[in-house]
Amino acid sequence: MASAADFSLGKVAVAMTPQERFAEFLQTRGKRITRQREVIVEHVSAHHEHFDAEQLLAGLRRTPGGARASRPTVYRTLAEMVEAGLLKKMVLDGRAVYEHDYGYPQHDHLYCTSCHRLIEFSSEEVARIRDEVASRHQFRPQGHRLIISGLCANCRSNRSKSRHQDRV
Ligand SMILES: [Zn+2]
Ligand SMILES: [Zn+2]
Repeated sequence: MASAADFSLGKVAVAMTPQERFAEFLQTRGKRITRQREVIVEHVSAHHEHFDAEQLLAGLRRTPGGARASRPTVYRTLAEMVEAGLLKKMVLDGRAVYEHDYGYPQHDHLYCTSCHRLIEFSSEEVARIRDEVASRHQFRPQGHRLIISGLCANCRSNRSKSRHQDRV
């Protein structure tokens, strides 16, 4: 489970609701927003967290509107939401994890490899280094992704406690 997170970064003002933006995106592709897609977008927008497709499917099936949600529809809609710029996808230990992108500020993550917790942070220093490295290569950056993996404070103190017990 990688849903525990510290979402302390606030929000970015956006012109459209995620639903409107998604409907517009689908229209440019000649697709319509079906009831199933609508239910998924609403559910995802209402829950601000890091999640994978199976967690979303389980959550949907607990709601009246999403009780009959099918796995292929969930996977397809997630891919469309990434393309529409509503969600960002990252791969952690081979698992695809999604989070809000639209209306949420640029940020990076610390990833605990023991409890799989994601901690968010945003750093101007990181952005400065990115721009510097990019310009050295005559490269114009559009975005970046930084995931620092390691052990969170909780897991570190648990480990040192168990090491201590080993010795006594
Ligand atoms: Zn941890
Ligand atoms: Zn995040």
